[in-house]
Amino acid sequence: MHPFFDTPLSQFPLLQGGKAALLGKDVNLFTYGDLLLYFPFRYEDRTTFYDIGEITEEDNYVLLKGQITQIDTVGTGEKRRMTAILQDDTGEVELVWFKGLEYVSRTVQKGVTYSVFGKPTLYGKKFNIAHPEVEVFNPNKVQEQAFMPIYNSSEKMKKRGLDSRGIGSLIKRLLPQAMPHLQENLPMYLLDRYKLISKQTALQNIHFPKSPQHLRHAERRLKFEELFFIQLNLLQQQKDLKDKHNGMVLKNTQLITEFYNNHLPFALTNAQKRVLREIYEDAKSGNQMNRLLQGDVGSGKTIVAFVAALMAIGNDAQACLMAPTEILADQHYNGLKVFADKMGLSIACLTGSSKTAERRMIHEKLLSGELHLLVGTHALLEDVVQFKNLGLCVIDEQHRFGVAQRAKLWAKNPQFYPHILVMTATPIPRTLAMTVYGDLDVSVIDELPAGRKPIKTVHKYEAGRSEVFGFIRREIEKGRQVYIVYPLIEESEAMDYKNLMDGYEAVSRAFPEFPISIVHGKMKPAEKDYEMQRFLKAETKIMVATTVIEVGVNVPNASVMVIENAEKFGLSQLHQLRGRVGRGAEQSYCILMTEYKLSKDARLRLETMVRTNNGFEISEVDLKLRGPGDLSGTQQSGVLDLKIADIAKDQAVLQEARKCAAEIIAKDRELLLPEHEAIRHYIAQRQRGNGQLKWSLIS
Ligand code: ADP
Ligand code: MG
Repeated sequence: MHPFFDTPLSQFPLLQGGKAALLGKDVNLFTYGDLLLYFPFRYEDRTTFYDIGEITEEDNYVLLKGQITQIDTVGTGEKRRMTAILQDDTGEVELVWFKGLEYVSRTVQKGVTYSVFGKPTLYGKKFNIAHPEVEVFNPNKVQEQAFMPIYNSSEKMKKRGLDSRGIGSLIKRLLPQAMPHLQENLPMYLLDRYKLISKQTALQNIHFPKSPQHLRHAERRLKFEELFFIQLNLLQQQKDLKDKHNGMVLKNTQLITEFYNNHLPFALTNAQKRVLREIYEDAKSGNQMNRLLQGDVGSGKTIVAFVAALMAIGNDAQACLMAPTEILADQHYNGLKVFADKMGLSIACLTGSSKTAERRMIHEKLLSGELHLLVGTHALLEDVVQFKNLGLCVIDEQHRFGVAQRAKLWAKNPQFYPHILVMTATPIPRTLAMTVYGDLDVSVIDELPAGRKPIKTVHKYEAGRSEVFGFIRREIEKGRQVYIVYPLIEESEAMDYKNLMDGYEAVSRAFPEFPISIVHGKMKPAEKDYEMQRFLKAETKIMVATTVIEVGVNVPNASVMVIENAEKFGLSQLHQLRGRVGRGAEQSYCILMTEYKLSKDARLRLETMVRTNNGFEISEVDLKLRGPGDLSGTQQSGVLDLKIADIAKDQAVLQEARKCAAEIIAKDRELLLPEHEAIRHYIAQRQRGNGQLKWSLIS
């Protein structure tokens, strides 16, 4: 890394008198390199005039040309505002001013052609632009900077001349000095193959593009580079694990055969079989497995986990399964115990609330090898939990479980690292998996067990409530059971709680003939358990609950899921809740209740739920709506701290980058070929910089 880029900003002549310190404090810029990497967050396109009729909701800022046909002043006092209609051949748009009305009324006149620049917002069915820049149109005027970068800046920075324009001119001054020191970090042949522009051009054009097209090329190059180096790193880690650590060889399948022949409760789906083959290939290979198992709610991941455990146990090793919460751990334990008992295997559950005596016994039996399968929470990670011979760990997770934590599990068998199978609770999009779990191999169960009737989902408003209640009654009379779920959002807990109780009362009044359960987070575990058991035994017909049932018991006879205030739930949560029904042979239903007034995003979430049952499809929409940081499964993942790329929007580039990185590693693991010199050099520098310098991303 050239020292030029590490030069502190305080040495920059234009940043004297405390300005450099201000940049550090307010926007984390400390060095020349940081400043050059401070990319605009948007651009103002003043190169072309838009047709007014072509404005869409997606448009950010637009440049328009037209005549003012009407000017009005409306309202009084604080609410006084001025409006004008701007018209061209294709349509009209309203301009609005709330301030400086006198000035505006002097400058804006009917019948004159203006060029107008601003951000259109949809108001009712019409677009309007608040406080646009308005100038009399002059065909001879040449725009000095037609395509303008806009940089973020704080109020303090603005006061000291470091507004967007000020930052732009700093960078303009610095760029030519930086160019000679800037090294290309991608090989020529890749630039050729992927039609990428050089690093120098890209850096120039990300700040000062001459046209939208120049900008697109610059973005593509920088995004590719960013994603490529992440993928290269992930794939190298993956390869390192494979090369450096022997896996326990789990070849003997006798136990599995016994299970298949005598105790398998149903025929496995083809997808389950395929995934088990993939796992077995790893298990017998002598390499250590690190695999991600993805499958939709209800696709049957549990039995796959159990058979994988049998691979270990059948080879004189032990297995463990770790869940993110106690409720989930209990649920897994209860589910797996049925299989384990049939096979005569010993199984135990270890969580934070296990009693000391029980704990001690578990510890002992793990060490002696008497205990075959241990289910539990993070309590499993504690150092006191030692196995005689741990062969396989299944991690059922909601949150990203980092390499550091996986390493704790590896360490539980110093001789052979145990094989690791990570299961996601809900599907995550392919591209996200590639990044967040990029160091794992991926298996997918993309098929539901046969005979499942797809759940029918409808969206109803309050006005349809009596119809919904009528439907519920008929289903219960047919022998079914019903969930009615209320949102519980921490910030408004008191109000949600009141909602739930009001709802419970309303339901009780509407169905005096049926016994009803209620379960919520404020109840004691024993009370909750009691109510859940009653519902499970079909003693109660309706379960009114908050989202605690998301991870609750499996009740195949429940065939209707009513979600109240469905607009308040995220997509993956809605999908997860819906997965509570449709587990038996009956046709199941999911009813999403909302108010009339819905935001655009809420509407899309509901439409998506009604349109599809496919968790992968739903997760794609979720990713686009919320961005990667908010999706479950990604929270603790540093790999999503991207400078320019966006996992949701740049899927195509990501796939290219991953493929490219994989090819290079397959061909030249140590990056020793002359054509990979640039890559090797760059990585070495970055490692020397300890990954701390942001500049390391680009220089
Ligand atoms: P998830 O992938 O959501 O963890 P589970 O493992 O809990 O799914 O399985 C959901 C339900 O489907 C369970 O009741 C399970 O017994 C059942 N199941 C799993 N696989 C099959 C299959 N191949 N055929 C029929 N039922 C199955
Ligand atoms: Mg499950």
